[in-house]
Amino acid sequence: MKITERQQHLLRDLPGIDRLLEMAAADTALADTPRETLTRCARQVIEGLRKSILAGQTPAVDRAALALQAVLEDLRRTVADRLAPRLVRCINATGVVVHTNLGRSLLAPQALENAVRIGGHYSNLEFDLARGRRGSRYSAVEDLICEISGAEAAMVVNNNAGAVLLCLETVARGREVIVSRGELVEIGGAFRIPDVMTKSGAVLREVGTTNRTHLRDYRGAVSENTALLLKVHASNYAVVGFTAEVSLEEMVALGRETGLPVMQDLGSGTFIDFSRYGLAAEPTVQASVRAGVDLVTFSGDKLLGGPQAGIIVGSRDLVDRIKRNPLTRALRIDKLTLASLESTLALYRDPRTAVERIPTLRMLTRSREDIDLAARALAEQLQALDSPRLQVELLDRPSRAGGGSLPLLDLPSRCVALRIADLSAGRIEKRLRGGQPPVIGRIEDDRFLMDLRTVQDDELDLITAAVRRLLQEETT
Ligand SMILES: *Cc1c(COP(=O)(O)O)cnc(C)c1O
Repeated sequence: MKITERQQHLLRDLPGIDRLLEMAAADTALADTPRETLTRCARQVIEGLRKSILAGQTPAVDRAALALQAVLEDLRRTVADRLAPRLVRCINATGVVVHTNLGRSLLAPQALENAVRIGGHYSNLEFDLARGRRGSRYSAVEDLICEISGAEAAMVVNNNAGAVLLCLETVARGREVIVSRGELVEIGGAFRIPDVMTKSGAVLREVGTTNRTHLRDYRGAVSENTALLLKVHASNYAVVGFTAEVSLEEMVALGRETGLPVMQDLGSGTFIDFSRYGLAAEPTVQASVRAGVDLVTFSGDKLLGGPQAGIIVGSRDLVDRIKRNPLTRALRIDKLTLASLESTLALYRDPRTAVERIPTLRMLTRSREDIDLAARALAEQLQALDSPRLQVELLDRPSRAGGGSLPLLDLPSRCVALRIADLSAGRIEKRLRGGQPPVIGRIEDDRFLMDLRTVQDDELDLITAAVRRLLQEETT
């Protein structure tokens, strides 16, 4: 590539790293920046400018851009960008309560406090205080889970995918697991039940068809190679119309008859009967235990509203075998998780307390009237910005449970919709998403919609401030 005379001049004007670092050392804005970071960023800035010059991006790079002050300004921006945390809080105005991309469940204050307490101090994580010797990591939550679910035994691992893997590896490695074709689901993030099975070393034995599976299909597939009958809660979709599914009770009866254990992957898993709150019935963990299922697995951070975890409940004999599996060590739960899980579970001793204090449950059961109050309050704040460019409306739009739970359920909700003169909804969405904190909503008919179900009370002011900044910065 031929370098023009102009490019040569520009390259010559480019300040050296040493000169830039000298300037930076005297700059108050950069005073607290670690040396290593400063050097890296200075290199990145100079290298960036060099590349731009060589690429002939001339309108952007002229002599003024190479003036020391301008380069220093560039360095300040680069440093600020590098030092900014990557994981940040967001305002979820999507109305999707268990939003996997936005962190699924918010923890109850009790759960957060306990994580801080246990994380900041030594604890009896694996120490039996009564006996003064090594103890079990699971004992903190095992009794509690048994008490709430009615199960004989319990244990917890890193997440539900891990729980499924661990159960299958323990019970069915090298042998067959019978499962209905209608339940071979894929959960977001490319978690597919058949793939997990393969990784566990179990051999998948599919029976029935996508829409109809009968007890005789399971029975016909049982052989001396069978290790397990598996039922998967097809949480994120529903088969409707001409369907047939074998009930849990029938599965358990077949298990008893053939001497095979029955496992159920509940996915979201809940201890609360949602039909009492006017929501669709989601199978509860207690119902599976009562039906006599030998192993039940579910997530800690979906409908349960706790930290990311995989919970396994079932018969003492099988859970003990699982605990002895060396794979358990690779999937073990962290102490911060354990601390917040224990506090979350404790709230379930009284279901009413659970619904009040666990944010996921509170948001799911929040009434349209309550959401409407919040929507009106936000609309008023926005109108008080007194901008002739801003148009605010209130709309009825349903929200979703999310997290692959209650897939067909529309939760009646209220949205605040924004239009700003000379600004597309796409632009509004992008700017609010890029703010601090980011506000995540959606676009409908060239309006930006915020569903108030998932917005916390103390976030209304933050949204208003974000819109105020947007109006100031995006002038016409
Ligand atoms: C969500 C889900 C999983 C995975 O659970 P994680 O806790 O996200 O690992 C497994 N099975 C089913 C049926 C699910 O819905």
